[in-house]
Amino acid sequence: MRIIVASSNRGKIEEIKNLMDEFEVLSYGEVMDEFEIEESGSTFQENALIKSRAIFQKLGDDTLVISDDSGISVPAFEYEPGIYSARYAGVGANMSANLKKLIDKMKDQNIKRTNAFYSASIAISSKELEYTVHGWMYGDIIDELRGDNGFGYDPMFIPRGFEKTLGELPFDIKRGLSHRSKALDLAKNILNMFAQKSFLPIL
Ligand code: IMP
Repeated sequence: MRIIVASSNRGKIEEIKNLMDEFEVLSYGEVMDEFEIEESGSTFQENALIKSRAIFQKLGDDTLVISDDSGISVPAFEYEPGIYSARYAGVGANMSANLKKLIDKMKDQNIKRTNAFYSASIAISSKELEYTVHGWMYGDIIDELRGDNGFGYDPMFIPRGFEKTLGELPFDIKRGLSHRSKALDLAKNILNMFAQKSFLPIL
């Protein structure tokens, strides 16, 4: 069963392929030209559905599309950057600018370490039904970058129970803990129903 991922974020696609190696997973950029999808929702769930629907509508009936809308939220900063994680320093900003904005904000307030959590909403669009599932990972952010593993905010995020950042820890640790792994585990149950052509209704 072929699954198309509605994302052009290389780090995310890589992780999803890794976490779903029992399925044939392709990014939508591998089957068509990428195009701009406006993430106009006000929640991770809305944005995930916007992305999976946009690609499903282009690819047509026989495809199974999944998308991931995710981000990091910092309670001390009114849950910023949240759904704006990819564009925290402005639309089109690169990841270094986003990281710098968050670290500068911590430094301005003399915060060296504070609670944060990642959220991921995964949407599945198909001709039969649409589903969304969610996962979270809790920990702290620090006011510096450590390590090169992972992507996005990983070099400043220390998962709960660890003293190293996800930039320093091997991927196997993130695999066991992450918001994306947890959401994908739920999504896999749904994808297996598609494989068996037996669908649970959403009540
Ligand atoms: P999206 O593509 O609009 O969902 O943007 C997600 C953004 O959230 C990414 O560009 C990253 O900045 C951040 N993000 C989401 N998941 C992760 C993760 O697992 N590690 C690090 N950053 C993440």
